Amino acid sequence: MSIVTNIKPSMLDVNQISSVKVEYYQIPLEEVLTDAKHGDHTHFEVLVCKIRCKDGMEGMGYTYTGGKGGRAIYSLLEDELKPFLMGKDASRITQIWEEMGWHLHYVGRGGLLSFAISAVDIALWDIHCKRLNLPLWKVAGGANNTTKCYAGGIDLNFSEEKLLNNIQGYLDRGFNAVKIKVGKEDYSEDVARVAAVRELIGKETTFMVDANYSLTVEQAIRFGQAIDQYDITWFEEPTIPDDYQGFARIADKINIPLAMGENLHTVFEFNYAIQQAKLGFIQPDASNIGGITGWLRVANLAYVNNLPVCTHGMHELHVSLMASQPHAGYLEVHSFPIDEYTTSPLKLDENGRAIAPDIAGTGVVFDDALVRPHLIKHS
Ligand SMILES: [Mg+2]
Repeated sequence: MSIVTNIKPSMLDVNQISSVKVEYYQIPLEEVLTDAKHGDHTHFEVLVCKIRCKDGMEGMGYTYTGGKGGRAIYSLLEDELKPFLMGKDASRITQIWEEMGWHLHYVGRGGLLSFAISAVDIALWDIHCKRLNLPLWKVAGGANNTTKCYAGGIDLNFSEEKLLNNIQGYLDRGFNAVKIKVGKEDYSEDVARVAAVRELIGKETTFMVDANYSLTVEQAIRFGQAIDQYDITWFEEPTIPDDYQGFARIADKINIPLAMGENLHTVFEFNYAIQQAKLGFIQPDASNIGGITGWLRVANLAYVNNLPVCTHGMHELHVSLMASQPHAGYLEVHSFPIDEYTTSPLKLDENGRAIAPDIAGTGVVFDDALVRPHLIKHS
């Protein structure tokens, strides 16, 4: 006997998941990009999850990595989540989100599983938005259709001259906010780079720094004090993301607001971080916080704590989520150019704000001809 007797069989059938397809891509970067803790990036990985309903409606979700772990995420999607999803009602997004988490909680909580869940959840939201015939920025809240944004450099290995050329390139493209990596062996070199960038960009351009959790608490305090005069909007991941009390000690000793989020992969971690780490900006990434469902939960946490929500990575999707929120801070336009492999790369308006796509769905559609050469594996 069916337990869903209050739903007309025809309605259930329409949304019933009839196929799940997984694709794994390795996309090379134009040049090697380096930060303080992950070393050299030569490529990034993209895992695509295509979910089809019984009536033929299809949604596409995806996640990405900095170049490692993609095969394990592929296996989680193909071997673990796909059998679990088959036959489920695609419109029950929250129920599927909760059940996916508990299905593999014991082995996967907050780890690779968060990436796999994200790809599935984004595909389900794509279906949801397409059935409503609305773009994501409206379905997720509709506060706005543009958002402030900044260019996030991965540039620790660049000479100072190349660093400045790269920043000038961002300004030439219309950005009025930029971020650089810090975490050099010799911290005075970081201070000199910050000074040089501020001189280049002038007083009006927003400027952030990101240490990728490479510093001790004491080093972060010394550096944060040394760059105080350069009007830095935030100091991102000064020390390990697990050390919320350490973040608080840094925040107590410097004037620059702290930011983190890309390494917090459950909504509960965000809750503790907000309570304890004295953050100024929250940076969830829908590719690793459980997709759009997880991102919106963190956005709501930020809202009730009077904090701006920001993002990390996958700007082609996040542009719609950020635009949808009244308390949006800055969208990161990441150095992994995933958007250049889609049919609608990110666009800025004349004020340097990123514009959310107006097509029904998440607004992200990969260009098959561009990604196909980089396909490693598919189901
Ligand atoms: Mg970062």
